[in-house]
Amino acid sequence: MHVLEEIPVMLDHTEIQGNFRTGSTEWAKRLEQLVETVQPLVFAKAVYKIAYVDSRRADGLDIDSVRFTSKVLRKNLDEARRVFPYVVTIGNALEDKMRLCTDALDQYFLDTVGTIAVVKARNHLEEHLRSKFHLERLSFMGPGSLPDWPIQEQRPLFALLGDVEGAIGVKLTQTLLMSPLKSLSGIYFPTQVPFFSCQLCPRENCPSRKAKYSEMLAKEYGIG
Ligand code: SF4
Repeated sequence: MHVLEEIPVMLDHTEIQGNFRTGSTEWAKRLEQLVETVQPLVFAKAVYKIAYVDSRRADGLDIDSVRFTSKVLRKNLDEARRVFPYVVTIGNALEDKMRLCTDALDQYFLDTVGTIAVVKARNHLEEHLRSKFHLERLSFMGPGSLPDWPIQEQRPLFALLGDVEGAIGVKLTQTLLMSPLKSLSGIYFPTQVPFFSCQLCPRENCPSRKAKYSEMLAKEYGIG
């Protein structure tokens, strides 16, 4: 297991403003203050492993002898042998702050800024993998992002990684959420064509959508 400590995450309030649909000066000032509050509460770390696909089935595959069930993951890894399971987190300091916050709007802002911070930390991990392993393009999938790869698959993912809690302090709760909450998990894999789970997700009006839904692609993946 490889650990990245002290991942630099720089939060820029002007960049973050674009994530919200309101634009009053008063609101922008408040957001700037909140971003300044969040910045020292971000302690980003990541853990990853170099793992190998060792067998494939119609509805899934084994990686380092750990069984995963997902047609989409299986198809995405058809050409891959080496993959990079990972967990990334910004720690629990922001979560502790949010628990003490009584203003619902501030809570919402803090939550959104926390999500932006953990995504930035994952981007750093992606760059690290790309440069260390000389990979042109990487995509990722996370358990729970599609019904085809449900949240229950966090168990084999954590089993594949090993002692994630000992390495970066992230554990799985009984409901299979991660603690700290501002953590992300998944598998990075080399790819020729970028893949986004959103391409296979028909959910309407999702503010986090990264790519258009494609019914044709969903059929190609056997889930349409
Ligand atoms: S569209 Fe939204 S819910 Fe669906 S996979 Fe993308 S981010 Fe997740």
